[in-house]
Amino acid sequence: MTDLPATASVVVIGGGVMGASTAYHLAKAGVRGVVLLERERFFGLGATGRCAGGIRHQFATEINIRLSLLSLRMLDALEDETGQPALVRKCGYLFVLTQPQQVETFGRNVALQHSLGVPTQWLTGDEVRRCLPACVFPDALAGTYCAQDGLADPNSVVMAYVSAARRLGVACLTEADVTGLETAGGRIAAVITAQGRIATPVAVNAAGPWSAPLAALAGLDLPVVPLRRQWLTTTPLPDLPTNFPFVIDFAQSLYFHPEGEGLLTGMSNPNEAVGFDQSVDPDWELTHMEAAVERLPRLERAGVVSRWAGLYEVTPDAHPILGGTPVEGLYLITGFSGHGFMHGPICGQLLAEIITTGRAATLDVSALRLSRFAENQPIIEYNVV
Ligand SMILES: Cc1cc2nc3c(=O)[nH]c(=O)nc-3n(C[C@H](O)[C@H](O)[C@H](O)COP(=O)(O)OP(=O)(O)OC[C@H]3O[C@@H](n4cnc5c(N)ncnc54)[C@H](O)[C@@H]3O)c2cc1C
Repeated sequence: MTDLPATASVVVIGGGVMGASTAYHLAKAGVRGVVLLERERFFGLGATGRCAGGIRHQFATEINIRLSLLSLRMLDALEDETGQPALVRKCGYLFVLTQPQQVETFGRNVALQHSLGVPTQWLTGDEVRRCLPACVFPDALAGTYCAQDGLADPNSVVMAYVSAARRLGVACLTEADVTGLETAGGRIAAVITAQGRIATPVAVNAAGPWSAPLAALAGLDLPVVPLRRQWLTTTPLPDLPTNFPFVIDFAQSLYFHPEGEGLLTGMSNPNEAVGFDQSVDPDWELTHMEAAVERLPRLERAGVVSRWAGLYEVTPDAHPILGGTPVEGLYLITGFSGHGFMHGPICGQLLAEIITTGRAATLDVSALRLSRFAENQPIIEYNVV
């Protein structure tokens, strides 16, 4: 780490996609004296670096669909904006539905997506089977496919924003562990790190799965919990169709997507306990792979290249928290509940708008305020994988 500045206009805490995007968009909006602090040796080693890279429009709430519409456009334009591409690959997302209740709910979701301009296609069970000749889905009742969904590279996105922020004068520092948030008269006064104190009127909590312990340093109780999720990548599968999409067996939260010449596959453990453990659970990997081979038998012949576990940052309604807090000068950009990577570009921009002008002009995100939980006004999202 280079020298810590003694003062800042804004300190952004957490160097994942949210912190990097927020720092960049603050500087782009003309804010000088922005500092980005990450406690690891490199940026993007938290949830962002462990994420599956999926980007999609297929959500069940208007706010998530609108965030995707804006954010995926920003990923397409990232190279023009920052000089570094997001390595977007539009392989499409195909949700496979095997339960009558899902068919009904996804029917409503697709109607909502259409009303907002997302060209999701409805597939019958037979059409699903025709689209996925490599898979075994005798029980597929229907499916939904959006060709504009796909993949992007998390590390490229984080480093694009960090590098562009640096060029605009942001001090982007690693190995800077925030250990205290100093308040005075109910507002932020300073951010304390192991290396020293930065006096600042504004701090942004972009600590992802660790955002609740960070908020607690300012006496704020945040409803965000860490939940482990894991995936693995395989050796090449040369006979896999080249147009293989991001496939989600929704009932099992089981997914596959192309990764290099092989696949990346994961499955969410519905019994996972809340906690900060980021080690791969070998028992769950066994359960996952049994289910995966049943759906994609050729996986039996593949080897494992890498396996990763990371943490979702989960809120009670599976929607993020974006905006201010009762502690004046303390802002939140957290709680993305399993799909934050894709919303990082737009959410960093929206938070920069809130900090600099008092409101997000690009998109009304007041529904994502922290106080919705105390007001008992949660948002319901069905498409969580
Ligand atoms: C297995 C898995 C698969 C996923 N798949 C997808 C997907 O396909 N698509 C998608 O859109 N999303 C996906 N996600 C979710 C996505 O990764 C997250 O929502 C997103 O990356 C959150 O970004 P963040 O910047 O808030 O958090 P992080 O990337 O975790 O960044 C927070 C940073 O804060 C730092 N930090 C914490 N405390 C402190 C402190 N006290 N001082 C200094 N630094 C601190 C951490 O070291 C960390 O680097 C997945 C997540 C996981 C775990």
